[in-house]
Amino acid sequence: MKKKKEKLTRREFITATAVGGAVTLAGAAALSPLTKAAEVPTIDEILQKHYKEMTPEDKKVLFKKLEQKLRKEYNKKVKIDDPPPIDAVEFAMVINVGRCIGCRRCVYACMKENNTSRNPQIQYIRVVKMKKGSINLEQGSHDYPENEAADPNYWYMPIQCHQCRKPPCVEVCPVGATWKEKDGIVVVDYNWCIGCRYCEAACPYHARRFNWAKPHIPSDELNPDMAYLSNRPRYTNVMEKCTFCLQRTRKGKYTACVEVCPTGARKFGNLRDPKSEVRRIIEQERVFILKEEMGTIPQLYYVFSKA
Ligand code: SF4
Ligand code: SF4
Repeated sequence: MKKKKEKLTRREFITATAVGGAVTLAGAAALSPLTKAAEVPTIDEILQKHYKEMTPEDKKVLFKKLEQKLRKEYNKKVKIDDPPPIDAVEFAMVINVGRCIGCRRCVYACMKENNTSRNPQIQYIRVVKMKKGSINLEQGSHDYPENEAADPNYWYMPIQCHQCRKPPCVEVCPVGATWKEKDGIVVVDYNWCIGCRYCEAACPYHARRFNWAKPHIPSDELNPDMAYLSNRPRYTNVMEKCTFCLQRTRKGKYTACVEVCPTGARKFGNLRDPKSEVRRIIEQERVFILKEEMGTIPQLYYVFSKA
């Protein structure tokens, strides 16, 4: 029987790919050819343990250090938390495209909540505008002007990470920097990511975002309530993605996109709870999943209904 190849450690990967064996931070940055004088993590940060290998004590020390660093950088007090998955909870989202008016409030609420870069702009959600009667995503546009929302000749389809049950992005990561948690959320250890972008290429939903340049967030817009595996500010040359706002949802709140949607087009909840709204919709309505043929088995469902 063929033995499955073990994933490399981050250090082994960088050693194997760095020219002449020069394991340097510049070597890690060089894996992303378009980045010039990009900022990279400090030596301590790049050599720290994988999230899964850290003890609670390691995490305590690390989070404190990070809080101090961010406080200095943004001149703002921040808190880094690490809420674990909740037992017997498996999150799912249902988007009712019959209700979506394409206002994109979800896009901007997500940026604010998740501290994504404003310049260059990084957005986790794309709301694709398509002619009524067309289902061709490639021909749709997601950067239409604001006043073109709610056009009766078009329909709108928000797309973001589907938190796949069989995530190709996780499969291809050569260093195990991204994985699926017990509650279904796919996360990234930003300090372990080597920026190879294999996951970006593997994702059939174009749901991953790469930090080509230093992410920029004005201090007064920084959300100080952060989690280590989600909305803490990212580094240059690392990948990021939607995490179903785990800093909120693992504490009993809705995702920012669900909370802000003016039409109630988005529903979120626990699939394992037979009384949850998402479970009722999935059991009783005609739901569909995007690119079903890819076999990713998403935890994001769509429904067409005016109700
Ligand atoms: Fe659609 Fe709601 Fe997003 Fe507006 S906020 S684009 S209605 S999902
Ligand atoms: Fe990974 Fe893309 Fe699936 Fe999200 S949608 S879990 S990024 S493959």
